[in-house]
Amino acid sequence: MQMLAEKIIDLINRQVENVTTITQYRKPLIGFASAHDPLFEQMKEIVGPHHLHPTELLPSAETVIAFFLPFAETIVNANRKSPEVAREWAVAYIETNALIKRISSELMNELIPLGINVVTQPATHNFNEQDLTASWSNKSMAYVAGLGTFGINHLLITKAGCAGRFGSTVISAKIPASPRGSTENCLYLKDSKCQFCVKNCPTGALTLKGLDKQRCYTELLDVDKRFPDLGLCDVCGKCSVGPCASL
Ligand code: SF4
Ligand code: SF4
Repeated sequence: MQMLAEKIIDLINRQVENVTTITQYRKPLIGFASAHDPLFEQMKEIVGPHHLHPTELLPSAETVIAFFLPFAETIVNANRKSPEVAREWAVAYIETNALIKRISSELMNELIPLGINVVTQPATHNFNEQDLTASWSNKSMAYVAGLGTFGINHLLITKAGCAGRFGSTVISAKIPASPRGSTENCLYLKDSKCQFCVKNCPTGALTLKGLDKQRCYTELLDVDKRFPDLGLCDVCGKCSVGPCASL
């Protein structure tokens, strides 16, 4: 099934290379996880029973495709330098959510005619607005698929950093799983030498003790009001523009 993996990687790369959006990207990262990886079962214990197993999305699931679309440096720099959330970052959020939707739909167009069952998931807005729990976490899928490690900013830090967005798709074809590396990508977890994300959080939602999701979400909804012309723009990213933003 190597050829299938290559076909999927090529499709995602082409979609990103051919964007006509304001937002520009660095090279995507793509990984594969076995749908039967024991970590998916453990997620029900760690994240909660509400978190779906790939086979609950697709009973014939064999593989989870996870991908990361890293933002161009200019977008990272804009949000790093701006005291408020930079417009470039807000636009990147909206446009990348749409791009993930497009990639998902292209994956369906390409794989279903090959007799492969496919279930896609949205980039975001699939969570319960009361308790902010999500039944599917693209970041967690990317972790299982070997794309990175979690930092104290509660984001997945890949070998291309954490400034970007994740998508995932479940399919019924078998693809060999990508290995999970042992490298720690968060500088605080490596040697306690960085706390950029905690210090740069404008609300105090992020601390060394954890993330106050409600406080963070209140900020995201405030940011949304600042960009009424962009559509639902619940984004901030001040914890994703530190030294681990782009590696
Ligand atoms: S900003 Fe520093 S401490 Fe925070 S996640 Fe990134 S590397 Fe870790
Ligand atoms: S998204 Fe913004 S408010 Fe939320 S934890 Fe990160 S920096 Fe803090």
